Order: sequence, then C-alpha cells, then structure tokens
Amino acid sequence: MGIQENIKDVEEKIKASCEKCGRNPEDVTLIAVSKTKPVSMLQEAYEYGCRDFGENKVQELVDKYEQMPKDIRWHMIGHLQRNKVKYIVDKVYLIHSVDSLRLAEEISKEAVKKNVSVSILVEVNVAGEESKFGTTSEEAYKLVEEIAKLPNIIVKGLMTIAPYVENSEENKQYFEKLRQIYVDIVDKNIDNVYMEELSMGMTGDYEVAITQGATYVRVGTGIFGERSYTE
Ligand SMILES: *Cc1c(COP(=O)(O)O)cnc(C)c1O
Repeated sequence: MGIQENIKDVEEKIKASCEKCGRNPEDVTLIAVSKTKPVSMLQEAYEYGCRDFGENKVQELVDKYEQMPKDIRWHMIGHLQRNKVKYIVDKVYLIHSVDSLRLAEEISKEAVKKNVSVSILVEVNVAGEESKFGTTSEEAYKLVEEIAKLPNIIVKGLMTIAPYVENSEENKQYFEKLRQIYVDIVDKNIDNVYMEELSMGMTGDYEVAITQGATYVRVGTGIFGERSYTE
C-alpha cells in the first residue's frame, strides 16, 4: 500500500476505536512520525492532508522544517539535549519529551530570548523501563508543578512510550496509568497548567491507547513503512 492509503487506513482505525469507546474522533490527532524518511515521503503525506509530523532528532527536524510548507505542526518526540533546544524552540508546535526540570529551564530560557511561548508535554516512564527516558510516575506531579512556574513554557499534558509487546492489550495498563496521573494533576488545579493532551500509542498499540484517552497518537511504521537505520 502507498502512504496515502496507509494514512486512510490508520484514520479509519482511529475512528473505529473512538466509536468503540464513545469518543469523538476529532479529539484524537494523528501525528505522522517521519523520522529517517525522505522529504518526498512527507510531501505525499502532506498532500493527503497531514499537518502534524513527528521527528526525534533536532537536525532532521530543522532540515525538514526548512524544506516543507510552513503550515505544518512539528512535534519533537525524541530525547532532547539541552544544548540543542535553541535550534527548535521557534519551530516546534509541541515538545513531547520533557523529562527534567533542567531541560524545561533551558526551553524556558530560549523561549524568552526568542520571545515565543513553547508548549510541552512531560514524558513519563510509566512502565519503569530502564532503557527509556521520562520522569517516574511518582515525580511527574512535582515536575509539572515546577515547570509551571517558568516563563514562556506551557505544560499541555503528558506523554509516554509504552514497552514493545506482541499483544497490544498488555499496554493497556500503562495507558490507563498515564491517564490516572493526568487526572490527578488536573484535580490539583495548578496555576499555569492547562492539561488537555495525552500523547500515547504508536503503530502497534494506538487503538488501545485511544480507548484509554489518547489525544495524540504517534504513528510511523503504519504510515511510512519499516525504518532502516543502516542506509
Ligand atoms: C519512532 C517513534 C514513534 C513511532 O513508532 P512506530 O512504531 O513506527 O509507529 C512514536 N513515538 C516515538 C517517541 C518514537 O520515537
């Protein structure tokens, strides 16, 4: 199948998942995760109507930002180093991967310099996997509260990367947990925190994530095909 057919297929599955649990499909945004893929493939997705693209490397995001139309919303979904924040603060729509106060401080500092306001999600390692970035479930609340005090940075919600599993139902517990952390934080009514987004679910498990409240699903392989890192 081609890219456009793939997107159509994913959109239909999103709709079906929403129907199953009584959600409005308009409340779920599909992010086309285009990392490692050439601009020509992004263009195909763009022509179909995709406006949300996800990248995990700063240099690649900046390169593609320069080559693609300006009405795209770029999502930084990968681990972000503090010394690279300055290259993207005025280019990204949403940073999904903020997992420390030091990183948030750097984003805030650069945002003030460039006179922009940056929306972020706090990444939580709900499954507690050692190989993954993200704050712990226990520390998520405190981190949100501290980031909320910084200028020019807005906490919009939470993000998680679930483990790789054969049966996507196994990840339901982690999506449920992220949602619970989210609800707990909303209940605390922190000043300057406008929690409305839950970024969870990838090609293998986005349908399950939707049943647990995902507002952003990040789909790469399901749209662009397998990635090759050896080329
Ligand atoms: C690569 C990546 C995805 C997309 O993964 P697929 O399994 O190809 O859909 C989603 N989220 C993050 C954070 C990623 O790095």
